Amino acid sequence: MRHKLDENRLSQDALDIEVKRVEKILEENISEGGVRSIKKLVHSLQVYQEELTLQNIELERHQQESDILREYYYTLFNLLPLPAVYVDERLHVVDSNQAAKNTFRSENISLGITNSLMKSLSRDSIQLLYNSIRSNTYPIYLEVQGNNQDVQIFYDLVLTKLNDCEDEGKFLIVFKDTTIEQKLKEKNAIFLSVLNSSSDSIISLDMKGAVKEYSRNLCQYTVETNNENIIESLPLPIKKEIDNYIEHKVKLNVRHEKTIEVIVKNVRHPLWLRIQLFPVEESGIIVGTGCIISNHTESIKQEKEISNLAYYDHLTNCGNRRLLRLRVSKLISQVDNPSFTMFFVDLDHFKDINDIYGHNVGDEMLVQVASRLKKAIRPFDELFRVGGDEFLILFHQLPTEMSSDRAYRIIEILSTPFIIDEKELVSSASIGISRFPEDGIDFISLYKKADTALYKAKKNGRKRFRFFSETMLLQIKKNFELEENLRKAMAKNEFSTELMPQIRCSDSTCQNVELLLRWNNEVIGLVPPNDFIPVAERSELIHTITEFVIEDAINKIKALNKFSPKKVYISINISKLDILNTHFFEIMKARLDKDKKIAKQLTFELTESVFSDSYTLIVDRLNQLKLLGVSISIDDFGTGYSSLSQLSELPIDELKIDKSFISKLGSDESDKKICLAILSMAKSLGYRCVAEGVESEEQFNWLASIFCDYSQGYFHSKPITFKDFISRYV
Ligand code: C2E
Ligand code: CA
Ligand code: CA
Repeated sequence: MRHKLDENRLSQDALDIEVKRVEKILEENISEGGVRSIKKLVHSLQVYQEELTLQNIELERHQQESDILREYYYTLFNLLPLPAVYVDERLHVVDSNQAAKNTFRSENISLGITNSLMKSLSRDSIQLLYNSIRSNTYPIYLEVQGNNQDVQIFYDLVLTKLNDCEDEGKFLIVFKDTTIEQKLKEKNAIFLSVLNSSSDSIISLDMKGAVKEYSRNLCQYTVETNNENIIESLPLPIKKEIDNYIEHKVKLNVRHEKTIEVIVKNVRHPLWLRIQLFPVEESGIIVGTGCIISNHTESIKQEKEISNLAYYDHLTNCGNRRLLRLRVSKLISQVDNPSFTMFFVDLDHFKDINDIYGHNVGDEMLVQVASRLKKAIRPFDELFRVGGDEFLILFHQLPTEMSSDRAYRIIEILSTPFIIDEKELVSSASIGISRFPEDGIDFISLYKKADTALYKAKKNGRKRFRFFSETMLLQIKKNFELEENLRKAMAKNEFSTELMPQIRCSDSTCQNVELLLRWNNEVIGLVPPNDFIPVAERSELIHTITEFVIEDAINKIKALNKFSPKKVYISINISKLDILNTHFFEIMKARLDKDKKIAKQLTFELTESVFSDSYTLIVDRLNQLKLLGVSISIDDFGTGYSSLSQLSELPIDELKIDKSFISKLGSDESDKKICLAILSMAKSLGYRCVAEGVESEEQFNWLASIFCDYSQGYFHSKPITFKDFISRYV
């Protein structure tokens, strides 16, 4: 524009000179007509001159405006707080504003702005700028990087080409330092990755409870994953705790950290969660809530497994004694003191099952017992396994009259044979019962009393139940003392034996005797075998006693054999536990191998109940004993439950009719019939028959008349000493 103005000015000055020169020529030389036309021309020229003047005025105005704009622009350019530079196509800085000078030259002060800009930006960023200029589409927005004193700096820049003709080929670049934002972004990214990599779920909420940030794994607890609803879609227990904390702590400006355990049941499977809530502060002012949710399900599960091991029996899945103790103690401590009844259930002769069939069969039987018992109790009653074959049932609020029914029922279901490994195993159970609060007000005494009642039930013949009573305790105390004395009896030489003759009915001669044990304690005096034998059986003292008796019998046979040519046969009483004892046979074999002939003069008496269970094993063992040479007799025959069909298969030699049938022979016709039946059966099977408890001549005569083989009883003789026996019968 300036150029144009200058040009105009030049042409006007030249025109003025030319007009004057033409006027002079005209005045000197030109005709009037020519002058007129020349004047017309001059007039035109003057008009043109005025136009030019006006044009000049206009141009000057534009020039002024343009200068103002240019100044305005430069002021703006210089005052711009953002670094801005003009560069040429090779990125050489043509001009730069103050901010750019400050930024790019602060550290590279010795370098020119061009070089310092180049140095400040990374090679990649420079390349990016070159490429952008070449692409020729403006404006261009770029993110570039540089560094200042080894500190990474980030810029957002805008690059544009200037269209002003004077600035042709120049580019304006305006920089914005975004280092702080970038660092914040980076920090945020780190924070988010930490947040998301934590196994715990973290939520940051503002003062109103709106979620600001949360870790991705929070979604494991939510139904929907919509960001806005994340809190709303959390399970109720978590949401309630967070709301409650914000309402009662954060909003009230209370600095209080809180940890709560909650169980969440509505997400697939139960979760055990720990929720930590704490205030988030900025410069000492509470600005929101922090929440960390940690999942403890696995550790709780492990704890549960451990407690399962501690409180449950792994074989039957029943609670164990420790759990029973906890339950009972808890029940007792309840304010309303609910009554309960303990059934102590013990399998009869379970040890035999284990010994005979092995532990696998025993275990399977216990599993089946537990399963039967579970079916026999109400859903709210509880079953525990408190020992090998001992179970305890906790009946809640069971009236006494119903206790008996339950006990009968349990005995019945456990008497049904168990099928294990295709074997049919017969068992039975005994039950002891104690009641809260009648029998005791603490676990130990209730447990002990149920055990006492059980002991009594067993002692009374098993397969039965007993309620605890105080007299039981006295009885047990007595038995306990008896056992103590019995243990010392052998060493103190308190045992002796008597002989009871068995008279041959056909000729009233005596060649057979039953050896009966006597215990004379220095304090208690003479204790009847019916009192101490069961005690000995329970304490396993029975084996020592049996060995003593057998040794005594052998010695007596040997002595008699030496003393007289007449053979005397001695019967001894053997406990079922001896037969079941795995070592018994070996002991007998070792003993009788020394005196082979003597075995033939020995008879082992076993009560009929020996066959009530473990039948096959007992028969096996008896066969083995018979091979040693001894005879086998069934004692107290008629009182037990051996089936007649079984009787023919038994490896026995003799039946002893129980004294209860003999004592009523005179008065009871049916007993006569029983005696006759037993006798004829014994004869047909080839067994000897002995009648026991014969107290009168009449009884003896009748027995003789039906051809009973032997008669034993007070009618002939009470048990007598060996010495007396010799003097009377040998
Ligand atoms: P048991 O084998 O039936 O023995 C017979 C019992 O009946 C003996 O009692 C005997 O004295 C008694 N008795 C025999 N005849 C008559 C009679 O006519 N009238 C009456 N009222 N009683 C009669 P004891 O000696 O008291 O023995 C009782 C039980 O003790 C025996 O019954 C037997 O089962 C057991 N016993 C005795 N000695 C031993 C032993 O050495 N070992 C084992 N395991 N048990 C034994
Ligand atoms: Ca006997
Ligand atoms: Ca008997």
